[in-house]
Amino acid sequence: MYIKCSVVATKISEIIDHEASFMTRLRFYSHLMMCSKCRDYFRQFKLLKETARQHEPEALPNDFDSVMDFVMEEIEAKDEKVT
Ligand SMILES: [Zn+2]
Repeated sequence: MYIKCSVVATKISEIIDHEASFMTRLRFYSHLMMCSKCRDYFRQFKLLKETARQHEPEALPNDFDSVMDFVMEEIEAKDEKVT
């Protein structure tokens, strides 16, 4: 049942876009319950996405992908240190 933080990071957009399966959501939210790091990350990701949608429904900001890549790398780097 346990999934790694780096896996959570790859599932976040699926979760937010309501494309994730029931099992994925179950694992995802179980992990969030145990992991404050991912909770914070999830909250920030949601805010970022919602803000982007409100301003420009058809297009994300130019730097959105690079910001997300950076955050993903940060999470994976931290995750590797832990394990
Ligand atoms: Zn986590």
